[in-house]
Amino acid sequence: MIVVKFGGTSVGTTEKINHCAQMIKSQVDKGEKVVVVVSAMAGDTDRLSRMAEELKVSQDSADEIMSMGERISMRLMCAALNSLDVSSQFIDPIQEEWPVLTDANHGIADVILKETTRRVRDVIEPLLQKGIIPVLGGFIGKSQEGKVTTLGRGGSDITGVLLGHCLDADVYIVTDVKGVYSADPTTIENAQLIPCIRIEELWDLGIHGAKVMHPRSLIYKTENMTLKILSNEGLLETPGTEIVGFLDSDIQVCCDEKEKSMVSVVGETMSSAPGLLRQFSEALEAINVYSISASTFSITFIVDTDQEVSAVQALHEVICDHPLLRAVTSKNGVALITIIGRKFPQEKGVIRKIGEALENETVTIINITTSSCEVNVFVDWNDRKRALMCLDRKLKVES
Ligand code: ADP
Ligand code: ASP
Ligand code: MG
Repeated sequence: MIVVKFGGTSVGTTEKINHCAQMIKSQVDKGEKVVVVVSAMAGDTDRLSRMAEELKVSQDSADEIMSMGERISMRLMCAALNSLDVSSQFIDPIQEEWPVLTDANHGIADVILKETTRRVRDVIEPLLQKGIIPVLGGFIGKSQEGKVTTLGRGGSDITGVLLGHCLDADVYIVTDVKGVYSADPTTIENAQLIPCIRIEELWDLGIHGAKVMHPRSLIYKTENMTLKILSNEGLLETPGTEIVGFLDSDIQVCCDEKEKSMVSVVGETMSSAPGLLRQFSEALEAINVYSISASTFSITFIVDTDQEVSAVQALHEVICDHPLLRAVTSKNGVALITIIGRKFPQEKGVIRKIGEALENETVTIINITTSSCEVNVFVDWNDRKRALMCLDRKLKVES
């Protein structure tokens, strides 16, 4: 069984919709069971969202309006499939059978996985058994109050992988480029197609702006699922990019087993000296640097304690040659605790919870660095076990 998701450009014209229908038919002819997810035609959601904003409608009415793009696409896709004698049926969120249930967080709703899985199986499997292709609009959900919700812009990818998860199916994401590239191929010349990418890498690419695949969709990839991104120009057999691995959806809290040291350089106008970071990186070439934090009069590197002396020596060389740098110092006994949560970008108060948990255990935070779904907290080496336990307890219980 496969789930095929077509993006906005892929369903942007009748010609393209017909081509997508052909792609499906060639799978059906091979005896494959196919579930189809469609996006709104390119530009439709933008237009609907703009109009909803101009008309100052409530957030739940805005979701209802924004869902219309996908609801048109699913009807058009069924029409194209039926004209090829491929029997299909769309499922609309207005119907009782609509399977994707979410919370009531309009505009960026979260899927209620257990209930959705049950409903997806109950609704979709019988259609497939009758030889009917189910066609669903991506991006759309329904709250327990029965209102239409949306999963967030670009959210059709979420629906595609989610259905694959619920049905134990492989998932094909059909888009306007041949797969994942080394940079956005529509703006960067010579961008190279990547045949295979680790899921963690694609997650970080998405979180940092690459539209090619919605990062939240990756939460639903299972170990056994084949997940591919490929072009809307050929058939599903075109190579594209395969995404390997799967993400741990739970919050992970772990402590690096090696003791760390802070190595700090002080100097005047630290932040405005051009080229300084290059000089530091060259000097620390052979040293693993876990974190860099800069303030007006100092810059601190966190390194393994067994590399502390080498780091101090290397940075001292830079200081001797630089008129604005004054001195270097170091301090060992630091532990690195890493906290990863795939839902952190949507959650409020993650840093507050970390702070509270450590404060209750009287553990002092020496340094903290954050990116969208990862927080690195540096604490005293002797406090690491207590810190690990209280963070684990607080973050897992309250997530
Ligand atoms: P769809 O409508 O099919 O969901 P999107 O526009 O959401 O398509 O995503 C595909 C777009 O992602 C491409 O047209 C491309 O401009 C953009 N993109 C950004 N970074 C990358 C990348 N590294 N590899 C491939 N595409 C990328
Ligand atoms: N149509 C929605 C959007 O434009 C969802 C999607 O295309 O993935 O954001
Ligand atoms: Mg997209």
